[in-house]
Amino acid sequence: MPLDIVPSVCPHDCPSACALEVERFDGRRIGRVRGAAGQSYTRGVVCAKVARYAERQHHPARLSRPLLRVGEKGIGEAAFMPISWDDALDEVAEKLTRAAQRHGSETVWPYYYAGTMGLVQRDGINRLRHAMRYSREHLSICSMLSDAGWLAGVGTKRGVDGREIAKSDLIVVWGGNPVSTQVNLMTHVAAARKERGAKLVVVDPYRTATAEQADIHLAPLPGTDGALACAVMHVLFKEGFADRDYMARYADDPDGLEAHLATRDPAWAARITGLSEDEILGFARLYGRTKRSYIRVGYGFSRSRNGAAQLFAVTCLPAVTGAWAYEGGGALYSNLGLVALDLTLIEGLDRLDPATRILDQSRIGPVLTGDRRDLGDGPPVTALFIQNTNPMVVAPESALVHRGFARSDLFVCIHEQFMTETAAMADIVLPATTFLEHDDIYPAGAHTYLQIGRAVLGPYAECRSNHDVICGLADRLGARHPGFAMSAIELIDRTLRISGLPNVESFSKGGWLDCCPPFETSHFLEGFAHADGKFHFRADWAAIGPHHAELPAYPDHFAIIDAGDLEQPFRLIAAPSRSFLNTSFNNTPSSIAREGRPTALVHPEVLAGLGLGDGDRIRIGNRRGSVVVHARGFDGLQRRVVITEGLWPNHAFEEGIGINLLTSADPGLPRGGAVFHDTSVWLSPA
Ligand code: SF4
Repeated sequence: MPLDIVPSVCPHDCPSACALEVERFDGRRIGRVRGAAGQSYTRGVVCAKVARYAERQHHPARLSRPLLRVGEKGIGEAAFMPISWDDALDEVAEKLTRAAQRHGSETVWPYYYAGTMGLVQRDGINRLRHAMRYSREHLSICSMLSDAGWLAGVGTKRGVDGREIAKSDLIVVWGGNPVSTQVNLMTHVAAARKERGAKLVVVDPYRTATAEQADIHLAPLPGTDGALACAVMHVLFKEGFADRDYMARYADDPDGLEAHLATRDPAWAARITGLSEDEILGFARLYGRTKRSYIRVGYGFSRSRNGAAQLFAVTCLPAVTGAWAYEGGGALYSNLGLVALDLTLIEGLDRLDPATRILDQSRIGPVLTGDRRDLGDGPPVTALFIQNTNPMVVAPESALVHRGFARSDLFVCIHEQFMTETAAMADIVLPATTFLEHDDIYPAGAHTYLQIGRAVLGPYAECRSNHDVICGLADRLGARHPGFAMSAIELIDRTLRISGLPNVESFSKGGWLDCCPPFETSHFLEGFAHADGKFHFRADWAAIGPHHAELPAYPDHFAIIDAGDLEQPFRLIAAPSRSFLNTSFNNTPSSIAREGRPTALVHPEVLAGLGLGDGDRIRIGNRRGSVVVHARGFDGLQRRVVITEGLWPNHAFEEGIGINLLTSADPGLPRGGAVFHDTSVWLSPA
């Protein structure tokens, strides 16, 4: 069996964007997937789920041909019959055209997210949207709140190169669990610990696999990280750790910040966070005396009504100590803003009509059930075209989402790799290629490489790429744009050229191009990205989002969370698991075997108080509904905190609806954003 090793790039929704080496047999099947040793962030390491990608690539349940639903919604493949591609695309085009004729073009909502992070196959749907004046999509489900918080202080979406972690003396992983969700980060942490004796601090409401490895684990109550950050800064100022020369040069208002923080001492933060004053003081002093301190800012603590304010507060820490100025110092949230790509061609931005309405993707439940707060005075959504996402499971307030998809007057076409629970609600299901079967270009959150992944296999069965399907629909709908006449690789090459970047041929054999800026730029020694060149301790929230009036200008604890009450005293975090990535791997046998079953981690004393033990069924509920899972006693969290891990399919739950039944579709401030970890609940024996 001839074997060759071919380069690729992991497309999944994970900051690491690993450079891959894929074993290929006979040009048709893949074997093991490894990290590329020559790409200096990946350094030969990938997570277990992608190492076993053959399981997903060659899964017997891969969709193989276009399907037309002839039976009930929600049943799955048995409710569909195969049709030809031409018939399927004709039918979709006709349905979208009829819907637009009846209600206006905004009744059609192309809906997507990050099932692939490749720009052509992910964002090309916007070219069709803009060319047809369909409703736009507010991309709020992941990074809206975290972006807002980071931009408020730093002014641009980039930070210090993750490879510099190896030069750090203190790494603070705040609100993330890289051992489970972006393992490559731990490679660089391990190097710093081994070579420099660096300390690792993890801030997370529960003892994650990453926290298990930490020297210090701080577990604040969900939604209180801003208070912790403020108390740390209070100590930095009070005990002489603040770098006043650095702040005078690089920050907007250090005196105002110091005065504001005067009352935010460790005792104040202890009352809010549930941490002890000693824990806060100990961390503050360690952070203050370590100049080469690197904060790896995660997404977790931003998924809260006050998430932007929380993340902003944390970004202020290295500006107080001046850690930004040191190699191995500073912070990184994401480098997705590092390379200025001109996306006009891919996304059809030259056809965007700013008058078209924008619907919030996180509020798909309210949108589909006719909430006027979302629809305004515009038409209902009567047609969805979906790529790269599975809202029946991943979107908040699942009850509304399910009710919306059940509407008999809603036409749904989905382009997918598997018969997901969203696909099972569709009228037409189109089979999609995987990243191994199409070309794309990938920026990264965690590192500085731009990478191109070329197809390493031909399409499975009748599968077509997202780009091909968009172009096929555009042709039938009469949508005009030069991008519809180009291949994916032509789009990539042209996009690089109009962005002033090296062309496709200039990328390495492995497919990468390091865009790392000089030290002075990545450490903001030439100034931060605001007009005044300063880091902003006083956030201009009005410049970031429309709902800014309540947000505190200085970093603070912004007490607008769903803190709970006597009826719902517990705080639920629906965290990611190691083996699923949203829902992308929740159907592979090895991932299911490792994760077991939907489980709640509950403090042992709380569990005993309910008369329950390990493995017993527990009901978690709030005003939106309740779900039954199995309980496990776990002492790595505060008594008021409950954790579930992984986006299990709805059918894995006894009552057929998953954990997002409990999460809220309320938008975070100041410009929306899903609040998945801001949920009060009650617990009872099931
Ligand atoms: S760590 Fe992230 S980027 Fe790397 S292979 Fe796994 S999912 Fe993909």
